[in-house]
Order: sequence, then C-alpha cells, then structure tokens
Amino acid sequence: MESSRKQSSTALAEALEGWLGDPEVESNALSFAGALALDERDELPSAGIDQVRAFGFNRYFVPERLGGDLRAAEDILMLTRVIARRDMNVAVSESTQVWMMLAWIGGDAEQQEKYAATVLRGGVVPCLAYSEPGHGADLAANRFTAAPDGDQYVLSGEKWPINRGRTSTHVVLLGITGDEHTPAKRQQSMFLVDRSQVISGEVTGVPRVPTYGLRGCDISGVAFDNARVDTSARLGAEGEGLELALRGLLITRTFCTGLSLGTGDTMLRTVADFLSGRILYDGPANEIPYVTESLANAYLSLLVAECESLVAMRGLHLYTEQFSIWGNLAKVQVARLVDTNSKVLARTLGARYFLRAAEHVGTFQKMLRDGAVVSVFDGSEPVCLDSLALQLPALAKAHGHDGDTDWRPLYDLRAELPAFAPHRVSVFGRGRDATFASLPALIDRLAELAPSEGLDEDRLAVLRGQATELQGELAALLARVNEIRRSTAGQSSPARAGTSTKSTDPRLIRVAEELGSLHAKVAAFGVWLFNRDHLDGFFADGEWLRAALARRQVHQYEVGDLEQATAQRLFTRMNEQRADHEFFSVRPVRMAEPGARETGRDDEESTTAA
Ligand SMILES: Cc1cc2nc3c(=O)[nH]c(=O)nc-3n(C[C@H](O)[C@H](O)[C@H](O)COP(=O)(O)OP(=O)(O)OC[C@H]3O[C@@H](n4cnc5c(N)ncnc54)[C@H](O)[C@@H]3O)c2cc1C
Repeated sequence: MESSRKQSSTALAEALEGWLGDPEVESNALSFAGALALDERDELPSAGIDQVRAFGFNRYFVPERLGGDLRAAEDILMLTRVIARRDMNVAVSESTQVWMMLAWIGGDAEQQEKYAATVLRGGVVPCLAYSEPGHGADLAANRFTAAPDGDQYVLSGEKWPINRGRTSTHVVLLGITGDEHTPAKRQQSMFLVDRSQVISGEVTGVPRVPTYGLRGCDISGVAFDNARVDTSARLGAEGEGLELALRGLLITRTFCTGLSLGTGDTMLRTVADFLSGRILYDGPANEIPYVTESLANAYLSLLVAECESLVAMRGLHLYTEQFSIWGNLAKVQVARLVDTNSKVLARTLGARYFLRAAEHVGTFQKMLRDGAVVSVFDGSEPVCLDSLALQLPALAKAHGHDGDTDWRPLYDLRAELPAFAPHRVSVFGRGRDATFASLPALIDRLAELAPSEGLDEDRLAVLRGQATELQGELAALLARVNEIRRSTAGQSSPARAGTSTKSTDPRLIRVAEELGSLHAKVAAFGVWLFNRDHLDGFFADGEWLRAALARRQVHQYEVGDLEQATAQRLFTRMNEQRADHEFFSVRPVRMAEPGARETGRDDEESTTAA
C-alpha cells in the first residue's frame, strides 16, 4: 500500500476501509463471518492481522521525525475504529504496536532510532507486561525483579494476564531494580525486552486463559527465569518505571476510545439492519416507536462519544501535559456511552442477542462481549476514576485561572495542529483541563451566534440556557470537591477498618463520574460551535446537541425521554448514514463499498508494506 502521508485522518480511514473490503464479504480476511468462526474456535485471526500489517498499520505508531507516519493522533483513532468495527480480536492483537510509544516517551535518542527502525521493518509484536497474578491494579506491589549485574540485568518473575503474552516478540515490563532502602515509588524500572536478544536464561509463555470476549486473542502471560538482558533494554532512568508506566497509560487510554467507537458502530448497525428487515405487525420492527427511539438514542450516544474522542485526539497535540485528567475521562466516558448502548441494543434486538450463530446476528453477540473489555483493561474503570478523584482538588484549584485562549485549534476539525509529542505527557497535569477551561468562551461564542436556517431563535435560546446550566453544574461539582475535603479534613477515616492504604472517598469517585459526563457534553458543544459552518444541516441546526445536553448523565437515557420529532430526526439520519455506507459520525466518512473485495490478497504484487 502506498504510504498515506499527508492524508486527512478521514481519508486514511477510508483508505483502510477500501483495503480491508466489505466485512459482509465472507472471503475477505476481516469479514464478520470469518471473525465469528475463528472466535468460536478460540483462534488468533492471523489472516486478518496479516492484511492489516500489509496496509502498513505499524507505520502509524512511529513518529514522522523517526521515519514513520505518526503525524496525527486522530489517525490512530480512525484506523483502530476501522479495524475494531470488523473484529476486536484483530484490533486488540495488533494495536499492541502502541506500546512502542514507551520508547518515544522514555527512551534516549539511540533507543528511539533503534526501535523505530525495528517497528518500521514490520513483524514486531510488542506486549505490555505490567500486571502480575497476585497484585492486579496495585502496580506498586509488583514483585518481578530486574537485578542489576554489571552491564546487564537479570529478569525473574511472571506477568499475567497479558495480551500477546505468549506470541510477542518484544515485552515492555516493569521490574524491581531498587533495594529495601529505595522508596516504594522508585523501586521499579521500565524495560523493553527484545525476546530474541535475551543473553541467557529463559523467557516462556504462560498458557492462554479462556475469556468471556476476545476469544481469539492470546490472553496469556509471560515468565522470565534468570533472563539476562543488556542495560540498553532499560527505558528511562533506574527507578523511573512506575512514572513512565503511568505516563504511557494516559496516552494509550485515550486511544482506547477508537476500540469503543468501532464496536459501538457495529452493534448499532447490526441491530438497525436486522430490525429494518424484521416484519412484525404488518411493518418493519424499526417503525415500532419504542424501537425507533431506542435506535435514535443509541445513535446520539455515538455522536457524543465521537466528539469526546476527536477532541481528546486534538488535545493530545495541544495539551499533552494535561492528560493525567483527560486520558482517564475520555476512556471512561466513551466506554460508558458505548456500554450503555450495548445493553439497550441487546434488549432492542430481542432474543437474538443471546444467540451466537452468524445467521442469527451473531456478530452483535461477539461485539457485545469483545467491547466489554475496554472498561476492564489498560486501567479499569474504577482505577481511572480513582486516579481522577485524587486529582479533583487540583482541578478545583486550577479551574478559572486560564487566560485568553483561542479554542479553534481544539475544536475546529479542520485546524492545523502542532506535532504530537508524546514525551510531553505528565503524570500530574496540575488540575488543568482545556475542555472545562474553554466553557466560558464557548458560552460567549454561542451568545454571539445569530439565528439561521434550521436554528431559530427558540432553539438558540434553549441551547444558551443549556450551556449556562453546564457552567452551573461544573461549578457545583467543583464546590462539592471542596465540601467533601472540608468534611474529612483532619479525620483519620473513623468509619474505615482494616489495612488497605487505598482511602479515596467514594463521594469523590462519584464527582469524577459526573465530571466525565459533563466533559463529553462540553466537547460536543465545542465541536458543534466550531464546525457548523462546514458540516451539513443535520449537524448545524443543533437538534442533536440539544437532545444530548438534555440528558442528565450524557450516557444515560430512558425510553420516552426524546420528543418524537427528535427521535425521528436522529433515526432518519442514522438510516441515511447506514444506507450510504458511512460511519455513524458527525462528518461524512465512507465505509468500504458493499460487496467490495479486499485489496492485496488477490494481487500478490500489491501486498508489500507501505
Ligand atoms: C482481556 C484482558 C487483557 C489484559 N491485558 C493486559 C496486558 O496486556 N497487560 C497487562 O499488564 N495487564 C493486562 N490485563 C490485566 C488488566 O489490566 C487488569 O485490569 C489489572 O491487572 C487489574 O486487575 P483486576 O481488574 O483484576 O483488578 P484488581 O486489581 O484485582 O482489583 C479488584 C477490584 O478492586 C477494585 N479496585 C482496584 N483498584 C482500585 C482503585 N485504585 N480504586 C478503586 N477500586 C479499585 C476494583 O473494583 C477492582 O475490580 C488484561 C486483562 C484482561 C481481562
């Protein structure tokens, strides 16, 4: 495939769509039927992985300055979305390329050159090995050792459960290099181990575990027995491992939104397809008002999820150092929007949601199971919310201290961005969040907006009222943070018993949850304001935004919430995008043409990597 440099992210997504072909065509390597059959056999989808590699997927994980095609964070989002909508097993197995990001964050110039060349050669399968069987999310309690010995380290211990644990070529891991005098936070160092370069000792795979979803993935482990590696395998300074790990996760959590968007699209599409052809009561089942509204609401949630994801991708370029808050918010909220949809869509599909066979809409069942992993791995929902809760006092303190900022680059999807510099990500962003900071300026901009076709004075007034409410909600949530802190100041948690050192007040976690919902609403508001001049009437007239802002929590909706005319409008739009083979999206992004064969496999000459 020709290198796709300089293309927009949407054009790149369309190019990959064309390359992979229509997933309804069974003979394509990434077909729905093939994905389901392999999943039933717990088989790694190797033909699909090969097809993705032949596109040059790996190149999008190496920065341009190092010879790769990583130009825009949004490219990774869109490519992941294209793959995940077909088969999460392929997306999750192959997007481990993203872990090489640790080299761009923590590696020195020599390491960066070396690993960039390695990834660009292709065939690299990294895995991220942080988790240990006995310690789960408590990474500081890890026991894997990396004993310094001259110009080598001796690695010993087991990592589990690890995606690609057995089948990886490279392992990014944390190992203890400190001793009993080293502070707990500085005990571990980060290593990027090329398994073919281990000097002596053994590295073995730990058997795969059967899983609820991702049944074709290699969810296993990796064990090191006195494995000697050169000191050049260490990324960053000794003792810097935990900090580097957290910084890397803040970026990869943000990219997880692409997985959610991909599965979310297919779940809605398969249910909408089925119910449009299902004849009940003398008409298609999707005309039953309950069904129409459910599908309309699910569609609306995907639009909001997309806005939150796109703004986060832009934020990665513009406000990289703020992602200690943003990365967690984006991952949790986008997964919540899609997970809530999956429950509603399961109910709306009916009995078939429980059936696994391809001819009974089995793809929905698979997506439901596979998509559920996003809120579990790479920092589970409780872990992300806990991290947010701990930063709320800083957020409350920093809020309102931003100077005049031009918010166009953040929200205008056409605006140029500075280069993505992942090394700028910080473990603590000092409570800053550009999305929340932009809200007063967005409100001012809305105040200046004149009525136009499709957006009359009445709707403008409603939107202005809703925008002001957002500001009120934000202020109230931040005030709650201060109240909670005051109510516990100086107390040694008398209600708590036991030995756990984790003491985050659940009330703060609740505030973090509500802030996540608010964040997505502000992101949708900003995207609407800055793009309504170039996107079509459905987008510009803001009816969808009004409906999204009217939800209490943006991912939650109940039947009867939507006015019938709004439900019909959303439903019609969703059906138009379905009929036109476009993504469920605020902007036009074309999917592979119906019946399209994949490129490359029929034509051996053109399968060379970009
Ligand atoms: C399919 C799959 C693939 C995975 N791939 C990888 C991988 O490639 N690499 C890797 O390193 N790991 C991987 N993992 C492990 C994953 O990241 C786990 O989430 C992690 O090990 C934490 O374990 P746990 O969720 O079982 O929770 P535990 O740490 O056992 O915690 C149990 C429960 O305690 C609560 N809890 C824990 N911490 C907090 C907190 N800070 N605040 C509030 N509540 C908390 C939560 O309710 C949590 O569910 C994978 C897991 C799965 C299922």
